[in-house]
Amino acid sequence: MDKALEILKKYYGYNSFRGKQGEIISEILNGNDVLTIMPTGGGKSICYQVPAVILNGITLVISPLISLMKDQVDSINNIGIESAYINSSLNNVEINEILRKIRNGDIKILYVAPERLESNEFLTMITQMEISQIAIDEAHCVSQWGHDFRVSYRRISKFISLLTKRPIVTAFTATATEEVRRDIVDRLELKNPKIFIAGFDRENLKIIVEKGVIRKNYLLDYIEKNKDESGIIYCATRKEVDNLHSFLLQKGIAVEKYHAGLSDEERKVAQEDFIYDKSKLIIATNAFGMGIDKPNIRYVIHYNMPKNIEGYYQEIGRAGRDGENSECIMLFSPSDVQTQRYIIDAGTNDPIRKENELSKLQTMINFVYNQECYRKFILKYFGEEVEENCNNCSNCELQGELVDKTEDAQKVISCAYRMGQKYGIGMIVDVLRGSTNKKVIEFGLDKLSTYNIMKNYTKDKLAEFINILISYGYLNYRGEYPVVTLNNKSMEIVKGQRQVFIKQVNVKQAVAKNNELFNILRVIRMEIASEEKIPPYIIFGDNTLRELSTRMPINEEQFLDISGVGKAKLEKYGEVFMDAIKKYIDEKQIKVSFIFNTVTRESKEIKVKSDAKEKSYVTTVNMLRDSMSFEDVAKERGITIQTIFSHIEHYIADNNDLGFDIDFSEFFTEEEEKVVDKAISEVGANALKPIKEIVPESITYNVIKAVILKRFVINNSNI
Ligand code: ADP
Repeated sequence: MDKALEILKKYYGYNSFRGKQGEIISEILNGNDVLTIMPTGGGKSICYQVPAVILNGITLVISPLISLMKDQVDSINNIGIESAYINSSLNNVEINEILRKIRNGDIKILYVAPERLESNEFLTMITQMEISQIAIDEAHCVSQWGHDFRVSYRRISKFISLLTKRPIVTAFTATATEEVRRDIVDRLELKNPKIFIAGFDRENLKIIVEKGVIRKNYLLDYIEKNKDESGIIYCATRKEVDNLHSFLLQKGIAVEKYHAGLSDEERKVAQEDFIYDKSKLIIATNAFGMGIDKPNIRYVIHYNMPKNIEGYYQEIGRAGRDGENSECIMLFSPSDVQTQRYIIDAGTNDPIRKENELSKLQTMINFVYNQECYRKFILKYFGEEVEENCNNCSNCELQGELVDKTEDAQKVISCAYRMGQKYGIGMIVDVLRGSTNKKVIEFGLDKLSTYNIMKNYTKDKLAEFINILISYGYLNYRGEYPVVTLNNKSMEIVKGQRQVFIKQVNVKQAVAKNNELFNILRVIRMEIASEEKIPPYIIFGDNTLRELSTRMPINEEQFLDISGVGKAKLEKYGEVFMDAIKKYIDEKQIKVSFIFNTVTRESKEIKVKSDAKEKSYVTTVNMLRDSMSFEDVAKERGITIQTIFSHIEHYIADNNDLGFDIDFSEFFTEEEEKVVDKAISEVGANALKPIKEIVPESITYNVIKAVILKRFVINNSNI
């Protein structure tokens, strides 16, 4: 293991293994098969690459996508580990050259597509080599219960059985349910494999589900706010990709597109431009992304709801592989359900598979409508039970303010009713806004009492509002040509038995803030990348660049101390980056040794503090006492408002007097408070869930928690 750590530092520039990497590597080095289930971005590659360097012979990596091999290989070659790939994109001369190198022992890692294993020529050649390890990437492709089944994966075990000496077989995947896990072990014929299930949680991903926003407007706003960052937008269909692509181009936004209907060449260019940071944004179907290792994707937007949780989690997993904060936003529309049903229907004839897929779709819908922590829901789906809410998803966090829209909802519902419950959203909007369009007049809809009563809404805003009502289940929207109809909840609203609170949508802030030096270094990275014709992240990841920009190393020793810098990279890039840093330091007249040492010293001080374990909730309360706003405290401490509530509760429960007043009006309106108070008097305040079940759906857990806290504060100050 000492050797493994040494390699980690020397080649990758990392000081320690992450999560279960160390255990997995040790198991492989002991000669045992392993199955590793680790989320995308968890760090699977290092698990087989480090043993590959240590073991005698070569490691064969079986990976499903030819188009990505070049990048993977470039990336490892660039840190100084000799590797190559063999696939159909190479000619015979190139293949022979690689074979020569393998024979000479100049190659440690060889990537191949599973189809290659069936070629006799390859088999003859490879059986003469010493193979230490066969690493199977995206191993779930072997299972038909997975979501990416590939027939060629079924032949891997046969290939292994043909080898004279059985190598260590290691399998890796990001998503696998119990069923798929068993299938992988059986189908790949792993021998007593140790199964590692690394935590599925990806704390740096913020999960946001937006229901009922005008998607295009939202998208334009978001892209504008994050224009320096890389992002992927997933759509459910090729047609939607094409439409959205033209729309964004028209708006002057540089964007690539990718789907299976494009030629190989078009796809290749789109993908490379994205990976090489030539374009920041790509719109794609789920055909895009398997094995994309680009670590600095800051956001993934689902323009439509995906058809299952596995696919969704894998797709959002492409964000933030470098561990930096990233956002995953789903823009849900009720019509997505229809689209996905249609895709499933058209995609398979096998009744069992169809049923399986429809049931996965239902779970996805449940996820969207679920009112509790989104992360908890996903982790539970993958078999991981967690107690705590994540406080980093749109259900956990209150974003924007809740407004009572009962009266407006009544107007919409009664309009749909009067129109005979046979029209779509567009017509209802037209009637409510008093449109004189031909159809409205022709069908006499201008005679209805609900004609022209919501002119105070723009067309878009009203459509958005109706979508929100539908997504909360206050109206139904179903059928092949969906029409808006009433249900029990609609009736309750009209009769005044149910209130409607709608969240006012805030446009998100930019995901990451970069400092000036970071931007300078980013340009240099781009220049080197273009010269060397490799993606920028292969040179340095964003996290490494960020550390360079804040710690400002100016000699080799300091440079090597930066995470992500190994020996090869220091030699190749150290000088040019240090020159830029020195220039920056000169221009800004910053004292060099001072900066480096201070930062190091500062980080040490912080460590000492946390070792002493100052009570976290005391710090929070002290900050509030110093008149800091909730928002500022949350920002400063990197915690959520909900956590602040818990800290206050904790503080008081410890027999402390707060000594200042909290202005609760920023968290709920009087009306909401009344509703929650009433609920508390019915079911008590020991648990949140029973309260949540009897208040209007639009009242969030945060509001409930805030009201309970207010009572707690009042009760305790009376004592
Ligand atoms: P996966 O294949 O599981 O999706 P990768 O192997 O691509 O993930 O790793 C994701 C990112 O995490 C990469 O940028 C990688 O360099 C980084 N990484 C992996 N292991 C470590 C580690 N021990 N310390 C720091 N960064 C790491």
